[in-house]
Formats: sequence, structure tokens, C-alpha cells
Amino acid sequence: MTQITLALSKGRIFEETLPLLAAAGIVPSESPESSRKLIIGTNRPEVRLIIVRASDVPTYVQHGAADLGIAGKDVLIEHGGEGLYQPVDLNIAKCRMMVATPVGFDYQAAVRRGARLRVATKYVNTARLHFAEKGVHVDLIKLYGSMELAPLVGLADVIVDLVSTGGTLKANNLVAVEEIMPISSRLVVNQAALKLKHDTLQPIIEAFRAAAQK
Ligand code: ATP
Ligand code: MG
Repeated sequence: MTQITLALSKGRIFEETLPLLAAAGIVPSESPESSRKLIIGTNRPEVRLIIVRASDVPTYVQHGAADLGIAGKDVLIEHGGEGLYQPVDLNIAKCRMMVATPVGFDYQAAVRRGARLRVATKYVNTARLHFAEKGVHVDLIKLYGSMELAPLVGLADVIVDLVSTGGTLKANNLVAVEEIMPISSRLVVNQAALKLKHDTLQPIIEAFRAAAQK
């Protein structure tokens, strides 16, 4: 029996993946939210789940420590996608990558006059590409979370972050001023595993594809 390992992160991605797993006939034997286990079995003896940080999913799959994984487009862009096959946009964990500024900061005027902008973000590759395409000079400041704070204390002029409702921005007197791209999560597959474990992986990929299209 060919063993299959699927890498997932806790929280929103796990919750939104459960129905897709069910469609593939995979039911986790426990919830990673209540269990502290990092390896979780399923109803299918040949399939196990590993629970990793969202930004680590591509790394586990790239190196073949997991055959499959589910990762946000934000995470995949920062990782680079090397060694990964990305067969299905699962249409889950949807949000938008946005530029946001303090309320009252005239972003369009700053761009027009060619100002150099200090940009705080976890998504430095995405931000670098976006501002380069616009011809805006930036100093990128890498953060690991709570980007909303940076403009409030003078660390940056603008932030690049994921926005869904805008509630966190609003609570911190910030406003989204530009969309960089829509974000959703994708199924990622190790390229070597896809060949070596094709007969086991292909039906799982197809079940995810069918469930995601509904
Ligand atoms: P950690 O919390 O471990 O530092 P993280 O913040 O990247 O990592 P999550 O907040 O669980 O982890 O986000 C996981 C993925 O969900 C992100 O990579 C992104 O694709 C998506 N996501 C993030 N924020 C939202 C949101 N507000 N609405 C919908 N999807 C989101
Ligand atoms: Mg988080």
C-alpha cells in the first residue's frame, strides 16, 4: 500500500479543507485544534495528515516530506513554487493582497510625485514585484506579523497585507488603497511523488478538483 502524506495548516485552511477531504473519502481521526499531535491519521490507513505552519507547507511538499499540501497563493509566491505542481485552485481561504495606508495618507499623490515609500510586510517578494511594476521606489521592511502596527508608530508609510473584511485595518485607522491580487488556496503536489505515486495521488487530486468546482 502506497503511503500518502498531506500537509495542512491549522485554523482557517484546515476548517475549509475538511469538506474537500470528505469528498476525497478522507476523514481525519482527530482535530488539530484540540489535539497537540502534528501527525494525524485518517479513516484511510494509507493517508496521514501533517500539521505545519501555513508558510512551511510548500517546503515540506517541495522536499517530498509530504506528497501533497494546501497553501495560499500568498505563501506560494513568497516560496517561489520550486518543485511543486499546482494542479487545482481550491477556491478556499479567499482574501485579497492589498496596499494599505493610514487614513489621510494620500497614496496616489505620493506615487505621482515619485516619493520613496517605506513598505512593511511579511510578503516582501510580492511587494517588491508589485512596486517595481508600478515604477515606485520602495524600502522593504520585513515583518512576521501585525503589519498594521508599522505605520502607526512610524516604522513604515504603507503596508502590504491580506485583507478580507477590512475590520483589522479599520480598527487601526488604516485603509486599503490598492489591490495587488486576489488570493485563494491551492493544492500543491510534489512533482516526483506525482509520477511515483500516480495511481494513489491522481484520484485524490481529481476528487479535490471536482469538490472545488462545486
Ligand atoms: P501564522 O498564523 O502561523 O503566522 P499565517 O498568519 O500565515 O501563519 P493563517 O492566518 O492561518 O496563517 O493564514 C493561512 C492562509 O490563509 C494564508 O496564507 C492566506 O492564504 C489565508 N488567509 C490569511 N488571512 C486570511 C483572511 N483574512 N481571509 C481569508 N484567508 C486568509
Ligand atoms: Mg495568522
